[in-house]
Amino acid sequence: MPEGHTIHRAARDHRKLFVGFNVAVSSPQGRFNIGAKSINKQQCVAVEAFGKHLLYDFTNNQSLHIHLGLFGRIKQRKLPVEEAKGEVRVRLVGKTHFIDISGPTICEILNEQAKSKLIGRIGPDLLRKDADPIKFFERVSRSRAKIGTLLMDQSVIAGIGNIYRTEVLWRQCVHPNKRGQELDRSQLENLWNDAQALLEVGVKHNKIITNFKKVGSVNTSSLNIYKKKKCPRCQGVISKIDISGRSAYFCDFCQPNS
Ligand SMILES: [Zn+2]
Repeated sequence: MPEGHTIHRAARDHRKLFVGFNVAVSSPQGRFNIGAKSINKQQCVAVEAFGKHLLYDFTNNQSLHIHLGLFGRIKQRKLPVEEAKGEVRVRLVGKTHFIDISGPTICEILNEQAKSKLIGRIGPDLLRKDADPIKFFERVSRSRAKIGTLLMDQSVIAGIGNIYRTEVLWRQCVHPNKRGQELDRSQLENLWNDAQALLEVGVKHNKIITNFKKVGSVNTSSLNIYKKKKCPRCQGVISKIDISGRSAYFCDFCQPNS
């Protein structure tokens, strides 16, 4: 599943391609014909990411809402347009490039009211300047749920996927099974700040990088413990557990649960 940084990166790229232009919108696969028609040739006024949701706003106050889910993907190409390959749900054609979106979990048109409702149920997004970390602190401090679960709950905090969850908790020495209410404010601030900094690096490089140590001029790995056997800090064994259906990794020694 794409993590938050890839969605924000897409928003940043697509903003340059579409905002200020009339965009030709179609559904090569046919499943989104009606939706595509309602925004076709309208001027795009904004492209924004909220967590893992992408929103393309048009002058007629309609927004295209995309959530890629586990299997969705976006391909970007230079003009001229080519024949669509595979099951392309929606195609957007700008002045210089076009994009094809295939296999999204959500592809729909929202009016302003529905858009506000959607945004209202997404937690503070680490990559948005208007994000309010206090909402995250308060929500977690009240919760008996595991921090490993809370970090992946997009209504609590938006942008963190499975890899960032593992890596941020390890970097901040927090066991994924700790309850939200067991964490103090400084731990929560550190989690927020670290995750935010890592996601910003992710957007910049379009890649998840959580380990900045280099041997010579090359990084041995861009990750610390995700899918690894040994902790790079203490050389201890990395354990793997299942939290809400996804694998979480941790170091028993560096992330004590007591
Ligand atoms: Zn360790």
